[in-house]
Amino acid sequence: MGKKLLKKEKIGTLVDGVVKKGGVFVAPKLMARQVAYGPVLDASEVEFDYIVPRNSFKEFMFPQTEPVARFIVTREGVELEEVRVSVPDQMVIFGARPCDAAATAALRSVFTWDFVDEFYTGRQDASVVITIACTRGDEACFCTAVGLKPDGSEGSDILLKETAEGDFIAEAITGKGRAFVDKRRDVFEDRVSGKIKEIFTPERLEGINLGRISERLKDKGHYDEPVWAELARKCIGCGACTFACPTCHCFDMVDEGNYAAGERRKNWDACQFDTFTLHASGHNPRDTQYKRWRNRFMCKFNFYPEKFSSKGCVGCGRCIRVCPVRLDITEVMEELSCSR
Ligand code: SF4
Ligand code: SF4
Repeated sequence: MGKKLLKKEKIGTLVDGVVKKGGVFVAPKLMARQVAYGPVLDASEVEFDYIVPRNSFKEFMFPQTEPVARFIVTREGVELEEVRVSVPDQMVIFGARPCDAAATAALRSVFTWDFVDEFYTGRQDASVVITIACTRGDEACFCTAVGLKPDGSEGSDILLKETAEGDFIAEAITGKGRAFVDKRRDVFEDRVSGKIKEIFTPERLEGINLGRISERLKDKGHYDEPVWAELARKCIGCGACTFACPTCHCFDMVDEGNYAAGERRKNWDACQFDTFTLHASGHNPRDTQYKRWRNRFMCKFNFYPEKFSSKGCVGCGRCIRVCPVRLDITEVMEELSCSR
């Protein structure tokens, strides 16, 4: 299938087609004066003036909280009630950024690793990710430093490139994307026209060398080097970086309710919280904040690449933007790129 033209004025038809059939259409929209991915019912809600939405779209595949089982305590014992995964027939993630789309590979690898988590895979399988290549960025963007591109197609079903006229040249990347486009001939036109806008390329961070970081992290002798305490001394353990990160996936299972009935819920958790690895005995193997920060860095640049061959960091820059103490992961990457 060749490239197609998606005129901006046809986005309304696109939204209506999904919503009227009971599907969910997620797109960047204004929420509390910030652009964030959220469900939209009408094309007038879709925001096009953004760099990277405040949140990642992982919350539509891996919600911040959801029940996985219900229980009732009876005289005979505990009765468990299965909770059906709530998956829409179709979910469209429109206006994704290439970094966020690429992050789905990381989530998929962890949620299908030793157990297939249908709460995640069900929603991801029902989703069509329509990405818009970046024509704007800021100083926190660094996708190119982790081997991605601002017009890359990793994780996207359809890749859109904006034209000077404000329309989009659409390219189906996967079979799912092709089927989506083929079914919507009233929206995607064959006659492609328009000049593609210039793609934004993040500033090159010459000091970052992923190969050297990976080599340095392999030898766990670095665990107690003073460099970690120096680099992460500012971290206050708020967890904002993990909640905002498109690849962070840690969750906790919590029973909520009362003595007679309740729910077992899967809630987002964060390795930056001091209780994350706290044992019932009171022992905490990551008893200081720099150890918790070191773990997050290890997860991104050692555990993910070694265990899953996927990227633990896609360079979206959210952790830099949201950090209240401005702890910049690229500075740590640069430091770890230096040979000892
Ligand atoms: S956002 Fe900043 S202060 Fe908060 S846990 Fe992450 S690195 Fe630490
Ligand atoms: S670690 Fe930071 S830059 Fe990397 S993917 Fe997560 S939020 Fe984005």
